[in-house]
Amino acid sequence: MSRTKNTRTGPAIEADPRIPFPHSPTPTVCKATPALFAHDLGDSTPEASDRMHQAKTACRACPIAADCLKWALANPTLTREGIWAATTARERTTLRRRLVERLGKDWVGVVADHDRRLHERREAARHSPLPVAEARIVHLDREANGPTPTPRRPLTPGQQQRNPARLLTGVA
Ligand code: SF4
Repeated sequence: MSRTKNTRTGPAIEADPRIPFPHSPTPTVCKATPALFAHDLGDSTPEASDRMHQAKTACRACPIAADCLKWALANPTLTREGIWAATTARERTTLRRRLVERLGKDWVGVVADHDRRLHERREAARHSPLPVAEARIVHLDREANGPTPTPRRPLTPGQQQRNPARLLTGVA
């Protein structure tokens, strides 16, 4: 079952196309074990709490957590329940309210525009050759540190902490 489609209630609801669901270089834990992420706010049993913590821990190590959070916040109808990007439904409601306060009612449009401009800048940088001095620095960096690793590595604890803050400032 895809977690990006509403398969629980009535007809399928389309996701907001302005913020596409991120591609993961490796299968995500929520896709492999969706039951672990089916968190019900009314269930306060120790088992439910344990599942929630396991799901949140898995999200914190997920390489697409920042973009997953952005998608989950942009699609409240599709993410009314469950754990998404280490957040509960209640936590996402709080984050959405703060985004509206910071970026306005059309915060999704603001973030999508920012993402588009960032993508365009990266593409432009990819297609324009580096000046000799910069190319030399890149070469020395690769010699010293090796090539840039792919696929993306799990996020460090520091990166995990920064993700919600980066989103809220519109600097994804
Ligand atoms: S952050 Fe969590 S909910 Fe989002 S794709 Fe990764 S494992 Fe799934």
